[in-house]
Amino acid sequence: AKHAAMQADELKEALLEKDRAYLWHHITPHNDHPMIVASGEGSWITDMDGNRYLDGMSGLWCVNVGHGRKEIAEAAAVQMTTLAYSPLIQSHVPGIELAAKLNDWLEGEYRIFFSNSGSDANEVAFKIARQAFHQRGKATKHKFISRHRAYHGNSMGALGATGQAQRKLKYEPLGVGFSHVPPPYCYRCPFGQTSGACELQCAQAYEDAIIWEGSDSVAGIIVEPVITGGGMLVPPDSYLPKLREICDKHDVLLIVDEVICGFGRSGQKFGHHNFGVRPDIVTMAKGLTSAYSPLSATAVSAELYESFKESGPDSHFRHVNTFGGNPVSCAVALKNLEIIEREGLVERSALIGRRMRSRMKPLLRHPNVGEIRCFGSAIGIELVEDKETKHPASATLVAGIIADCKARGLLIGKNGDTVPGFMNILTLSPPLSSTDEDIAFIIDTLLAVFGAAG
Ligand code: PLP
Repeated sequence: AKHAAMQADELKEALLEKDRAYLWHHITPHNDHPMIVASGEGSWITDMDGNRYLDGMSGLWCVNVGHGRKEIAEAAAVQMTTLAYSPLIQSHVPGIELAAKLNDWLEGEYRIFFSNSGSDANEVAFKIARQAFHQRGKATKHKFISRHRAYHGNSMGALGATGQAQRKLKYEPLGVGFSHVPPPYCYRCPFGQTSGACELQCAQAYEDAIIWEGSDSVAGIIVEPVITGGGMLVPPDSYLPKLREICDKHDVLLIVDEVICGFGRSGQKFGHHNFGVRPDIVTMAKGLTSAYSPLSATAVSAELYESFKESGPDSHFRHVNTFGGNPVSCAVALKNLEIIEREGLVERSALIGRRMRSRMKPLLRHPNVGEIRCFGSAIGIELVEDKETKHPASATLVAGIIADCKARGLLIGKNGDTVPGFMNILTLSPPLSSTDEDIAFIIDTLLAVFGAAG
């Protein structure tokens, strides 16, 4: 056994050496000792040393059905040996079936354009919106309005739509035509209002921005149903319906980014279902395949799609991506959606959220817990130095809690604004398939960590 342990240590050291020499890690300062994740099963992942962790963020808010699903691997293998690739210039069976399935999920009539990532899906949305107005003789309508704190992706347009300054600073200028309005952030209302007693100035800000920019120049607004990565900012119920009205009034398209909120995370099939609105364009990725394979989609309302057909010759959407709608990814997505339906994971998500929210209530007594916000099974715990002043918790405090959770076997996230000092929101978004024991482990661990830190 000692020999085997030595071999494992040597293997790990050799891998770390290669990691240090060759691998460029995402969005993080280089770390000489990254955790090397070896396997996953259900809500748990295991590192190379055999330590098990509950994956409290489902990776990057994406492994909705949990890890280690053999039937997804089998569906991928069957598709790979049947037809590994064909571009969607033609058609293929899993692509057709998935587009139809997404129409059921969306509960409306949409045309589905497949791509690879959430960023791609948003780029496609922007291009479709611009082209649609061009073809309607309104070529000046090209701008998009988004919100501060929003994250919409890493490519030049999607990052342009993103409302977090530090993420953009060294890459600007980005895609042109993006501007931002303040987010619905009731805990720190940008308009100085009291939650529940306001006139939704945050939604009105969108109309004001459209008017200031000139509605003849605005093509669309883009919103997540709830700002997730920007710190779990849950809007009042009437916020999204009001945006729908504003868009209709000014002939502006409502683009809803469901990259995180979709596929059950919100406790409904899509986050916008929680607010009863019908978007013109819906973008999705992550939970579409539970990240078993890269795939994203831009769903475009039937009316908008028809306007492309009616605009005469040469009015097709001039956009292709090699891997978008890869048949293997589509087969993976179909199996993933089948699992979500069969196991009732949308309803399970709502139940997980309710349970976490009610059992976490004691955390609110902790001096550093300012607010707990919940959307389906996505949770944000806003940490402050002082509840009166709401001064955001220091990076050291936030890092200490995350490290303590990790030491006890729970991985949680840290989100907020990239403005220094505002990465003060702990986030949780566990697999929707998490068992009762998994959820109890998450809550017991948090209660113990905050108990120890109180
Ligand atoms: N939109 C939202 C709301 C996201 O959270 C993300 C990624 O975290 C994206 C878009 C971009 O997705 P991707 O990383 O697949 O490009």
